[in-house]
Amino acid sequence: MFVWHVYVLFMKEDTPKDGEHKLEVPDTRPPAMFIADDPGLDFLNSIGTPAGTVIEWLANGEDLLAWLEQAKLIDSAIAAAIRENSFPGELDEVAAQARALREWFREFVLTHMGRPLTAKALDLLEPLNRVLERDEQYRAIVARPDHPRYHHARSGLELRFLRRWSTPNSLLLPLAQAMAHLVCYEDFSLVKGCEGKACVLLFLDRTHARARRWCSMSICGNRAKQAAHRKRSPGKPKSKPLKRAKRAAPINSRIAP
Ligand SMILES: [Zn+2]
Repeated sequence: MFVWHVYVLFMKEDTPKDGEHKLEVPDTRPPAMFIADDPGLDFLNSIGTPAGTVIEWLANGEDLLAWLEQAKLIDSAIAAAIRENSFPGELDEVAAQARALREWFREFVLTHMGRPLTAKALDLLEPLNRVLERDEQYRAIVARPDHPRYHHARSGLELRFLRRWSTPNSLLLPLAQAMAHLVCYEDFSLVKGCEGKACVLLFLDRTHARARRWCSMSICGNRAKQAAHRKRSPGKPKSKPLKRAKRAAPINSRIAP
């Protein structure tokens, strides 16, 4: 398993922190959704329509840091260090690049989903390779965490992949790696779009029967059930169907806190 740590941080003169001069506006957005069962697809789902209107969870640099932390693609120490060492507006620019990368990748996924990916797709993935080649990964020997999982390990040391987070642009690298992992190691025939009306969320169907249809049973799944029930029995009492919908709610849903 890869674990990313700060190795080299860059120093800049004291400048206002990103966002320091911005007006505090209450965030009325629902929490970002991590329902895809794959980080690369979760990245595509960082814009969505959970309540019918478009919600952008990567609107600026602070959004990007928060989303990467929630996705567990960076830890809070890395987020804090990058925030501390960024010029005003610099993180917003990286967020704009992340959104552009996301929409480029969405086109690729929508074009190729539903069938296995072949080597013919390689040329189309050049933009992703251009990002990946900027990476500054290296390996280092570190102390193994004191965790019951490792109590029978042969050594108290382990060899880890680390990354130099040299500039705020480095934040694109864990995103690129998540996308690259999806195209190289997952089955594109299992990439599906939620069947919810007007829902744009994508996921990897890891269910045994390959029968997943919804981003989340608690959102689109229940909506569809209620719509189907209304269609079947107009004007009838609704107590029984509501009970059934409630029972099915938690399946397949994993929404970030
Ligand atoms: Zn949906």
